Amino acid sequence: MIVPPAPSEISASSSATLALPDSPEQISAILSASVAGLRIRCNRNRQTLVSLRSARDGHLVLSIRPELLIAELLPELTRFIHRRGHGRYPLLRQHMHHLFETLSSATPKPVPLLDPQLAALPTLGPGPVNLYAIAEAVYQRYHHDVPPVPVSWSRAAAAGRRLRSIRFGTYRPGPPPRITIHPRLGQPWIAQCFLELVIHHEYCHHRQQCRPGLGRRMRHGPRFRSLEHRFAAVAQAQAWERAFLPCLLDPQHPKPEPSCQAS
Ligand SMILES: [Zn+2]
Repeated sequence: MIVPPAPSEISASSSATLALPDSPEQISAILSASVAGLRIRCNRNRQTLVSLRSARDGHLVLSIRPELLIAELLPELTRFIHRRGHGRYPLLRQHMHHLFETLSSATPKPVPLLDPQLAALPTLGPGPVNLYAIAEAVYQRYHHDVPPVPVSWSRAAAAGRRLRSIRFGTYRPGPPPRITIHPRLGQPWIAQCFLELVIHHEYCHHRQQCRPGLGRRMRHGPRFRSLEHRFAAVAQAQAWERAFLPCLLDPQHPKPEPSCQAS
């Protein structure tokens, strides 16, 4: 649902009185006016309560629960948008935490439990993901002795669709060679080490291609697996994948929560 800006409401109330804006529509209109090209979508998501992304047409899209479009959060939300999600937003965090708890208690589905060590893995966080920088770091650490490969997002599947299977990454030998990554791996809650492992995995295919002696015929054979296991956080990343695969396939699936929460 897209909340249309309501400039008439704003000008009417602000010229007559100094009352604070108090409806999601008013807050939405003020935010839209503060950033050129911003679109605001009210979501009903129970997990990702607020997110910011760049649309293909260059617009910035703020997806947010309407419960968070309140006057008290206006300064932090404005900063959140201007700084593309970077920085700290204690009040927003607090409101999200409360909302998350309210929604969870109203949800009959049990939330899967998550090993606290997996919950502690750094995630991509809000804001645009610098795939180039992440891929470059993986290349420099593990594959700098073979030619680099451009890494980009693959075409987006419909964001809300439930998938039966998902191909996280693809390597095309070319020429020119190319690696593409599924856009669902660009979400704020994705563990960064998992995205890195997928890039590393595709680079191992590139290495097989460059060095046929590494067993190109057996794509995922023992030699490939030993190459793949050079990745430092392979065990954590694979455990994270097992825990979150249902959420990667189905955006509505509840995300696992730490089994003992330390706040
Ligand atoms: Zn593979």
